[in-house]
Amino acid sequence: MNYLPKITLAQLPTPLHGMPNLARSLEFSGKLYIKRDDLTGLAAGGNKSRKLEYLMYDVLKQGADTVITTGGLQSNHCTQTIAACKKLNLACHVVLSGKEPETFNGNLLLDLLAGATVHYAEHRSERDGQMLALAEDLRSRGRKPYVIPLGGSNALGTVGYVMAMPEAVRQLELMSIDCDRMIVASSSGATLAGMVLGAKMTGFKGRITGISIDRVATGEEAFPPELADLANRAAALLGLDISLSPDDFELEYGYLGEGYAVVGDNERNAVRLLAQTEGLFVGPVYTGRALGATIDCIRKGKWKNETLLFWHTGDTAALFDYGEALVTT
Ligand SMILES: *Cc1c(COP(=O)(O)O)cnc(C)c1O
Repeated sequence: MNYLPKITLAQLPTPLHGMPNLARSLEFSGKLYIKRDDLTGLAAGGNKSRKLEYLMYDVLKQGADTVITTGGLQSNHCTQTIAACKKLNLACHVVLSGKEPETFNGNLLLDLLAGATVHYAEHRSERDGQMLALAEDLRSRGRKPYVIPLGGSNALGTVGYVMAMPEAVRQLELMSIDCDRMIVASSSGATLAGMVLGAKMTGFKGRITGISIDRVATGEEAFPPELADLANRAAALLGLDISLSPDDFELEYGYLGEGYAVVGDNERNAVRLLAQTEGLFVGPVYTGRALGATIDCIRKGKWKNETLLFWHTGDTAALFDYGEALVTT
């Protein structure tokens, strides 16, 4: 395989440790571990840091002076991208879906503190068009923009999570943990696609379960073909002789709740239970939903006696914009 060049933005390896109190409180017959990708150390941390190590290398290589990317109002991806840009002396524009709020909290507060130029797109479907128009405008004014897609999910971003697998597998070996299943929140796809490809690359024998945050299994917007395509394009970049099909991706689709970034009982209860048993915090949009799904599957006896590794992909800064939804009196 080819090792692709990257720049260092994340503190790696991230810690991996047990969650015995949570396991006990669920009367779980198996074991529970957590991989702390919330502690990557870029802005408030999270999974986008690993992707950005490869993406930002390419930004510099292309000689760009401005990065444009997109996400939701509380996008972790946008905040980490902005932080990376500041560190590398690049300008950064973000297109956030939603209306400009009256107060600035959580990730959006960090975005503004770091001096990003924030644009708002009323509808999600307008984001890509707005990014292209912005790039065109910057180019006409002599700038060199570089567009990073939603969530940093292209082939290069996927490589970040392919390379996370040897790191995790090595930690599991050193700690003598026989991991049956890794669980991770999945939305724009590169994280799960990279992990499944990385599992094949390293010979990891356990399963990998994605928790869909806002994606569906079938129809025109079907997620698995997209995941396979991302993984296969990353495999080509890495010179790996591995080919994945949509069937290689195992996801739970039953936890979409009331929609993207809407906190319900599932998220609220998971955030609170983890905080109250382990003193750890998951976020409202991604990791709270994914941990809630994990807890539900455990309670339904789905993963009896298994050793589970939950990937904490970040999202904790977003908590500060969800106080009302998370604390009920
Ligand atoms: C973006 C994000 C995810 C999903 O990762 P994808 O690569 O977009 O599928 C999961 N958790 C958090 C905290 C995220 O910000």
